[in-house]
Amino acid sequence: MKTTMDMESRLAPAVKAVPPSGIRKFFDIAAQMEDVISLGVGEPDFVTPWTIRESCVYGLEQGYTSYTANRGMPELREEIARLYREKYEVDYDAKTDILVTVGVSEALDLALRALLSPGDEVLIPEPCYVSYKACTTLAGGVAVPVPARAENEFRITPAELAAHLTEKTRVLLIGYPNNPTGAIMEREDLLAVAKFAEAHDLIVISDEIYGDLTYQGEHIAFSSLPGMQERTLLLNGFSKAYAMTGWRIGYAMGAPALIAAMTKIHQYAMLCAPITAQMAAIEALRRGEKYMKKMVAEYDRRRHLIYDGFTKLGLPCFEPKGAFYIFPDISGTGYTDEEFAEELLKTEHVALVPGSAFGECGRGHVRCSYATALDKIAEALARIENFLKNHRK
Ligand code: PLP
Repeated sequence: MKTTMDMESRLAPAVKAVPPSGIRKFFDIAAQMEDVISLGVGEPDFVTPWTIRESCVYGLEQGYTSYTANRGMPELREEIARLYREKYEVDYDAKTDILVTVGVSEALDLALRALLSPGDEVLIPEPCYVSYKACTTLAGGVAVPVPARAENEFRITPAELAAHLTEKTRVLLIGYPNNPTGAIMEREDLLAVAKFAEAHDLIVISDEIYGDLTYQGEHIAFSSLPGMQERTLLLNGFSKAYAMTGWRIGYAMGAPALIAAMTKIHQYAMLCAPITAQMAAIEALRRGEKYMKKMVAEYDRRRHLIYDGFTKLGLPCFEPKGAFYIFPDISGTGYTDEEFAEELLKTEHVALVPGSAFGECGRGHVRCSYATALDKIAEALARIENFLKNHRK
């Protein structure tokens, strides 16, 4: 469209304050090249298991094409409550404590909008998923990054959180297993954070979308820790564990008043999550676990291959314990993380994401997703080896 208005000047300051995602830029370049191996996307390479797809097809055949309850179909909320009762021994009431959303993305946005007043601060351990800071800003809050250290396997400690606490801090927003590092928090780490949250009366938003993708030990739901359920808003979804990114389905669980407030926004902004996706999610929880476990076992095989590969290439990297990302340190190559990603893409046609896209303390690292077939990972490692031989600065 040709325009004469100065539309830029009409845009809301909070929107202007948010930079575009550093992830997409590289996809756009990669999309125009041939023969690219992408370790860039945080998306399973599997298709959603057939039983889940079939339940949607069947639902459509039966004419399920309407809106649902704003909070989501009661059967889905019951399945979610059952899952948390059986797997994590934490009790959520399907009627009052659960909201079904359009992915964890929507749940995160609703949560921050429901909780924050202008200027309220949110502690966000970094490196972190790109939406955490952006959604905080868009909700009128102030994102306060708390750097996690590679030497501590990117786990966060109360001392690091305390160093960024002010009288305006209201919320702690954590995401483990972590995107982009693959870090997890052991029980003792989480207990220490829980104690900190209680001592400073913080609400904890815990994004556990990668919980099922935990390769060492068991995932621990933050709300299952003693005393934490009422101050935790737990977010989870189907995108990663069930290879359902395109379905757009997730959920939030927490105190009834918070869920009611989020439902109010959801009701006006979204109305409800798509009925097709909700029916598929019910099937995922009823009969999808064995397929999910197979995919997780495959990610685990890939995790070993990629970790060994980077270690052999001499790029220091922490062994990821969850999610499907690895975060090698490329600072020894002489390139910045942005230069490394750009040069590697141009010369060897391998796409990955500069670590600084996930926060300042990600600088000097790159994020590689291993939600990619084994042979492609092997080929990408060979190309990276080539790059290091021929293009080292
Ligand atoms: N949270 C984390 C940590 C993610 O990595 C992603 C997607 O990459 C999301 C949330 C978004 O998930 P959804 O597809 O459920 O909106």
